[in-house]
Amino acid sequence: MRLTRLRLNGFKSFVDPTDLVIHEGLTGVVGPNGCGKSNLLEALRWVMGENRPSAMRGGGMEDVIFNGAATRGARHFAEVALVIDNTDRLAPAGFNDADQIEIVRRITRDAGSAYRCNSKDVRARDVQMLFADASTGSHSPALVRQGQISELINAKPKARRRVLEEAAGISGLYARRHEAELK
Ligand code: ATP
Ligand code: MG
Repeated sequence: MRLTRLRLNGFKSFVDPTDLVIHEGLTGVVGPNGCGKSNLLEALRWVMGENRPSAMRGGGMEDVIFNGAATRGARHFAEVALVIDNTDRLAPAGFNDADQIEIVRRITRDAGSAYRCNSKDVRARDVQMLFADASTGSHSPALVRQGQISELINAKPKARRRVLEEAAGISGLYARRHEAELK
């Protein structure tokens, strides 16, 4: 599985549709202060099912919707699409019936979030599981936030262990056990 494209529309400062091609290997985002580098990383976490407004640097989830600028009005919705190349067919069961997987998350003011996977409605939980199993979820150490390296250096052993578990790909198992215990 490989992330190949990120499309944003009305997400934070990305008011106009933006299509980002993700090439193989390490990706870095560079640009002047305030140009939207952190917003891009947040879009990636958000489409993977991040549900804590604080992780999006907002007070509520609707704060991810473009809220207007001097010359442009606010938008009513935000949408982020993530395209995954699944030609290796390594996606978890339930997602593994196509060579390409497109996850779309859309939030509308006063109507909350909705997710689609290859044009079919899915639950937030399904999307979170997909990425937890693939060790690339919204909490994944593959996405390095600003200031995260120093946080890790200063972290308590338990917090550091969580990062290692995520990297080892076993956090999806924890999530499934938790879900099984609730049933
Ligand atoms: P730095 O180099 O300082 O870390 P950055 O490139 O990471 O900057 P971001 O933090 O991604 O920049 O982008 C900040 C910009 O996004 C600000 O100009 C802020 O006003 C804008 N922004 C954030 N949320 C919204 C929103 N909901 N609507 C419109 N603009 C927004
Ligand atoms: Mg930043």
